Amino acid sequence: MRILVIGSGGREHALIWALRRNATQPLELFCARGNAGIAELAECVPISVNDIRALISFSEQTRIDLSIVGPEAPLAAGIVDEFEKRGLRIVGPGRDAAQLESSKAFAKDFMLRHSIPTARYRIASSAGEAIKILQSNEFGGQSAPVVVKADGLAAGKGVIVANSRPEAIKAVEDLVGGAVSAEATRHIVIEEALTGREVSLLLFSDGKDFRLMPASRDHKRVGENDTGPNTGGMGSITDSGILDDAMRDRIVREVIEPTLQGAGAEGFPFRGVLFVGLMLTPDGPRVLEYNVRFGDPETQAIMVRLQSDLAGIFQAISETRLGEFEIDWSDEPSACVVLAARGYPAKPEIGSVIEGLAPAEPDENVAVFHAATSRGLNGDWLTAGGRVLGVTAKGETLDLALSRCYGAIANIHWDGMRYRRDIGSLSAAGSAPAT
Ligand code: AMP
Repeated sequence: MRILVIGSGGREHALIWALRRNATQPLELFCARGNAGIAELAECVPISVNDIRALISFSEQTRIDLSIVGPEAPLAAGIVDEFEKRGLRIVGPGRDAAQLESSKAFAKDFMLRHSIPTARYRIASSAGEAIKILQSNEFGGQSAPVVVKADGLAAGKGVIVANSRPEAIKAVEDLVGGAVSAEATRHIVIEEALTGREVSLLLFSDGKDFRLMPASRDHKRVGENDTGPNTGGMGSITDSGILDDAMRDRIVREVIEPTLQGAGAEGFPFRGVLFVGLMLTPDGPRVLEYNVRFGDPETQAIMVRLQSDLAGIFQAISETRLGEFEIDWSDEPSACVVLAARGYPAKPEIGSVIEGLAPAEPDENVAVFHAATSRGLNGDWLTAGGRVLGVTAKGETLDLALSRCYGAIANIHWDGMRYRRDIGSLSAAGSAPAT
């Protein structure tokens, strides 16, 4: 079976690693465009994730049996529709369903239509209208926190949790002033600020049936104790303590089922991976966001627990027979700690020589996923982006998984290497605990 994975980060490395590790049939793996770590497991092809035409030609020429999409941009641009038009098999939502991520206004209105619990909101069509809403008392008094969100894809830069109205108004001005693309700010969502612990629940869906993955939590801020700017994610964990069975069942009933049924009823049955970002508030679970693909670095922590054949899961999704498929997960908690470059997220330094990367992991519970690496002329590993590696491990307890991560990190070094030492600690898990 020939599989093309589209993307080039730690998430894609983890997917390719899991495809190989649990394969029940011979696989030929390709990755566009991949990175130096991925090149150890798959043939990397130099095609951009956004060059849908070139990806189609490559898939036709190479007779790819199935493609899997990592990042959101090609999904929002309709890569799945374009592949399917040409009879090429691909796992992911079409352009319609991808709006659940590519437009926050669409997602909020969708949730309202299907009574899916989420923060109270208003959609503004201009900065002026957004500021007017903020100057009213609709979301509490002038000193109450409020959340400002750009409607469109903004690579993590489109959401500002503002602690006061002046801060919120400045956030609107910054967004329309160029912090994100003009396209992304054609609408602005103003939202009530929620408190509680955050949890991410990912699932596979074939449009008919779904299968949950282990609940996860990521750490978005660059600094320890959740300080500093937001990043793509500095670490993630999976652990049964994140979500008890009763809350998980409630989320399935109140959020997952109505979301999948709603998508089907609106004519875009959801096929692919759905990521639901939730806040567990004192009033119950509330959806913060949908992503229509695997998260990064949640995927790394999730994939080290997968015990079933990932190619088989993707095949079942593409043939709408996920209902026949039971997916096995290890019971052990897991963690991923991201090693980033000095200057990340604003201006990461690249090209540093990475020392201590072993050719094979000495411990089978540990996997080092590459987010952005390249090879120097003499074979050295070099840093090639802001997030460089995701050191991932599982263990009987979360503490053991974390100590395996940090133990493996002690062997890795480059000038300017940065990481958080508090991944997995509750104080780093978001605001006030839910009751
Ligand atoms: P989003 O991309 O919508 O998930 O927002 C990114 C992050 O902003 C979330 O992971 C939360 O930490 C925070 N956030 C988003 N919406 C809210 C909200 N209504 N109340 C409090 N925090 C929020």
